[in-house]
Amino acid sequence: MNLNNLLGKILGTSKLEFDEIHVEGEVIDEIINIAKESHPNEFIALLEGKVKDRILKITGLIFLPTDVSNESAVMQVFMEPLSTNSIGSVHSHPGPSASPSDADLHFFSKKGLFHMIIAEPYTRDSIRTYDSWGNIIDYKII
Ligand SMILES: [Zn+2]
Repeated sequence: MNLNNLLGKILGTSKLEFDEIHVEGEVIDEIINIAKESHPNEFIALLEGKVKDRILKITGLIFLPTDVSNESAVMQVFMEPLSTNSIGSVHSHPGPSASPSDADLHFFSKKGLFHMIIAEPYTRDSIRTYDSWGNIIDYKII
């Protein structure tokens, strides 16, 4: 059983099996711009996406009415119900590390399949992407 099959079993989301993750370039650019504008504050959004032909495609961001002024932003989103098309999350780290905090890992394990963290200097190279367990997973920009 591969990882995604296992994920599907655990989450009851067997329709959401995928082999690859594609993120639209426009979404990446939007994330970079918002991270820069929000600096030195953290920003967080949910990722909108769909699985089709075993490819998870991220097509947009969903913003929530959260207080984005501190590290607890992630936990506030944790309290929100996920909409049907939200498949994961993205947030910024005002600092050099894109490693998930303990709170991030807790959040990742509860919600969504794919999570992005963008650290300074807020470029494509400073984005790291994780699965529900906080393992780094690859993605393609399309
Ligand atoms: Zn974080």
